[in-house]
Amino acid sequence: IVKRGMAQMQKGGVIMDVANVEQAKVAEAAGAVAVMALEKVPSDIRAEGGVARMSDPAMIEAIMGAVSIPVMAKCRIGHFAEARILESLGVDYIDESEVLTPADDNYHIDKSQYKVPFVCGCRDLGEALRRIGEGASMLRTKGEPGTGDIIEAVRHMQKVNQQIRQISVEKPENLMAIARDLRAPYELVQEVHANGKLPVVNFAAGGVSTPADAALMMNLGADGIFVGSGIFKSEHPEKFAKAIVTATAHPTDYHLIAEVSKNLGSPMKGIDVATLADADKMAPRGME
Ligand code: PLP
Repeated sequence: IVKRGMAQMQKGGVIMDVANVEQAKVAEAAGAVAVMALEKVPSDIRAEGGVARMSDPAMIEAIMGAVSIPVMAKCRIGHFAEARILESLGVDYIDESEVLTPADDNYHIDKSQYKVPFVCGCRDLGEALRRIGEGASMLRTKGEPGTGDIIEAVRHMQKVNQQIRQISVEKPENLMAIARDLRAPYELVQEVHANGKLPVVNFAAGGVSTPADAALMMNLGADGIFVGSGIFKSEHPEKFAKAIVTATAHPTDYHLIAEVSKNLGSPMKGIDVATLADADKMAPRGME
């Protein structure tokens, strides 16, 4: 419960990927509620290929020293040693992330054993509740990272929220079968049934690259936004960062979003997910 507190405070905010101190300062000045310190944003990981791992602790520490907002860092799925190292650095949050190359294709980290809170990705309610069952304090959609294409984030947010709505009108005696079908912990299914919402915040991530994308996701029920490649791969990162923060905070004020969307220059180029080979998709990594 204590570990979930920070994510609650970030509701309505934007968490930005930054690869160095200068970018972290730009993100903070633009009003980001946190930064994600990583050497390569997802679009670069995509472009360069190879194995993507936890970032250099020196780089993470430099960013921690440069900004006063919370600093997150990513470890590989199942790589509890990377997670312990990040915890020892004193990062505010760990993202057990499919953006990095998975280290274990069966077991995620037992996040309940850590003092530091974790965020994990999800594509549906079963995945979301399994991660919460393992101790995640925050969720985000997986989307399709590094593409700048919003379709997968939309798909995942719609799916999770549709499944929550279905459960909330279900008869209590049917919840065990639902837990079985979702492959989710029964107690968490009961909790979703009782409250009509997830017990942790769920941000949108994976493909958000314009103020309009951020507004779309907030209106689909996201509690906040992660932007990976979308800011520092755009033509004018400072303008994009500020505009995305404004759109996230005021997602139905379309006059305002129109204003901040003027003369932004080009967004990140991006890749249409429909043209992406299955082997190049990050969201399902390690699955199927
Ligand atoms: N996400 C990624 C990136 C994975 O590698 C795996 C592997 O099992 C999963 C999700 C699936 O985990 P689960 O079925 O426990 O949700």
